[in-house]
Amino acid sequence: MEQPKLRCIKCKCEISGAHYNTPAGRYCVKCWDKVPARKKKMMEQLAMERLANMGRLFELANQRDKSNDNKIKQLNTDIVMIRKWIKRLLAPIMREVLKEEQQYFIEMLDQQVAEALRRALPHDV
Ligand SMILES: [Zn+2]
Repeated sequence: MEQPKLRCIKCKCEISGAHYNTPAGRYCVKCWDKVPARKKKMMEQLAMERLANMGRLFELANQRDKSNDNKIKQLNTDIVMIRKWIKRLLAPIMREVLKEEQQYFIEMLDQQVAEALRRALPHDV
């Protein structure tokens, strides 16, 4: 089966090679350069909200069976996976920001992951 062609969400050009994969869709390099910093920030915010929603889902799943150790192990694995996933999601944005901002983003990401983990785990752990 033929792979569907990737297209820039802005100019609809066919994407081959380097591009920016954002929560809003894929951008070609030319179009990404024209995206205002404010919009790039919004995409980062969206990625964070997705992470928070994941945390809530884990919390719900966990409430159904708080005594299941395997579930907690699975949860921890999931959190690590989400952390990787969200970093990949943010990668195109990270490339666009200054070094100091990158440090700030990484700290924010760590806080979000810690918060999601804290909420997802049983309170007596
Ligand atoms: Zn484009």
